[in-house]
Amino acid sequence: MSEPEYRKIAGKYHDLTDKLVHHIDGDRSNNHPGNLVVMDRKEHYHIHGTMGGWKGNNSKKPRLSIKTLDDLLIIYNNGF
Ligand SMILES: [Zn+2]
Repeated sequence: MSEPEYRKIAGKYHDLTDKLVHHIDGDRSNNHPGNLVVMDRKEHYHIHGTMGGWKGNNSKKPRLSIKTLDDLLIIYNNGF
């Protein structure tokens, strides 16, 4: 079973059971511990919805994850 490098790195600091590792700057090749944050699936979904997609802010075709009016309001409240 091969784990991505970023999970190995984050796993040194956190218990990753049922957790996902998010790259704060959206760059999956930036595996500096300070760029990695551990969160559960729900939180991860939420943060990507707020960012507007799954590939960070540099994506040319962001996949919007807006499912509810609340999601939209959160994005608006964050200044988007
Ligand atoms: Zn993420």
